[in-house]
Amino acid sequence: MSEFIGEKCAVFGVYDRESLSVEPSRVTYFGLYALQHRGQEGTGIASSNGQHISVHKGPGLVAHVYKEADFKKLNGYIAIGHNRYSTFGGTRPDLIQPLGQGSQVLLSHNGNIQDVSALRTFAEDKKLDSRNLNDSGLMHQSINFFMERGANLEDAIEESWPMFKGAFSALFMTKDKLAAIRDKHGFRPLSIGSLNGGHVFSSETCALNNVSASYIRDVSPGEMVVVGEEGVITRQIDKPDPKICAYEFFYQARPDSVISGELIYKVRKNFGRILAEEAPVNADLVIPVPQSGIPSAIGYAQAMGLPYEEGFMKNQYIGRTFINPDQRTRDLWVQIKINPLADILKGKRVVVIDDSIVRGTTSPKIVRMLYNSGAKEVHLRIASPPIEYPNVTGIDTPTRAELIAANKGIREIEEYTGATSLRYLSLDGFIKGVGISRYQIDLSCFTGEYVATATRDLQLVG
Ligand code: AMP
Repeated sequence: MSEFIGEKCAVFGVYDRESLSVEPSRVTYFGLYALQHRGQEGTGIASSNGQHISVHKGPGLVAHVYKEADFKKLNGYIAIGHNRYSTFGGTRPDLIQPLGQGSQVLLSHNGNIQDVSALRTFAEDKKLDSRNLNDSGLMHQSINFFMERGANLEDAIEESWPMFKGAFSALFMTKDKLAAIRDKHGFRPLSIGSLNGGHVFSSETCALNNVSASYIRDVSPGEMVVVGEEGVITRQIDKPDPKICAYEFFYQARPDSVISGELIYKVRKNFGRILAEEAPVNADLVIPVPQSGIPSAIGYAQAMGLPYEEGFMKNQYIGRTFINPDQRTRDLWVQIKINPLADILKGKRVVVIDDSIVRGTTSPKIVRMLYNSGAKEVHLRIASPPIEYPNVTGIDTPTRAELIAANKGIREIEEYTGATSLRYLSLDGFIKGVGISRYQIDLSCFTGEYVATATRDLQLVG
């Protein structure tokens, strides 16, 4: 395992000098609410009034961490926020972002610096203590170092940039500036919006809509965008080579977000439609595994001309339960999360659609629940290709040893799930469904072909 693999997170930030109708920290709070699906372990907001930076953060959900009184402290015209979700050091309070409290620059980072060796060597050379720092902490440390030596924010970022080897969509703020950066592959999304003349940055466009900001454009892969007193400065620091992570399309992003120009809801519906072409079946109805399977199930049902039904009710008050300490706990969660509707399923040949199979925890339980509810046949359709390799750019995934598709063939998985039939979306079908060039998608979780910067980690997680 790499040191700190797997920070699938959300970043959100606002710079708004002119129109202070709603304070940036509050807009950031709503933005983080909209991005809760990207991280649930901890959240934080930092703000500046030009003189002083304030920070409030804590473990848990956005709804629980902030109280009205916190916003009195979080005043000013700049704010950045973060929702954290990581497999590593989950509840360590010092890993909750924004990082850098007490220094002149703060950081919110989504992604994973796969190769931290350059940053560690830098810290050693400069006699900086990096022992307790994760990849984000090391990024902050290097930029803070250059700023303490007198560099401005944009020069400090540019100076440190060559040491950032991996995936980063990140926001930095000082007392009077906000900077957004995205690695040259743009593994993780990052968009820019405008709100009453001010600037908003968000991991996903859904949060821009939610705060009534209008979408301007994405931060380009390899680009730095800085907002300050002089207005907006952009620098293309690295040559762009876009490789957006496949996970955003099948699992990670919210369906109402637009990524690389594609509405995720439409992409997932395409997956379902293509899956119907590739793997049709005689059945009575199509149901999703809620929530992530819904758009693909609609696409599948429409393409097949079959009724779409809700075969499960989901408990709306349970978040994502993927990472849990042991298998028994993971098993129990599946059952508590969803409840089958026997009346709808009884005596039926059911097609059930989920977005993915990772360890194989969910599928056998889904299938068993459907049979126990009286389904006659259960045809499992997965709206992504088999996940055979871990993700190394900031999504929590287990090692190869735990990925069921890395260790079993499709027929074996079919048997393992107990389904009447199991079919996955093909790789070509996936690419067609996304609708952008295959060379602009990081497909490594399916193919094992990691983008160059990730190769070191491949050995570590393999
Ligand atoms: P598993 O039960 O391990 O096979 O995981 C598959 C289920 O987890 C699917 O229902 C997905 O919606 C969900 N899932 C897929 N990838 C992830 C991820 N990286 N983090 C959390 N949940 C995931």
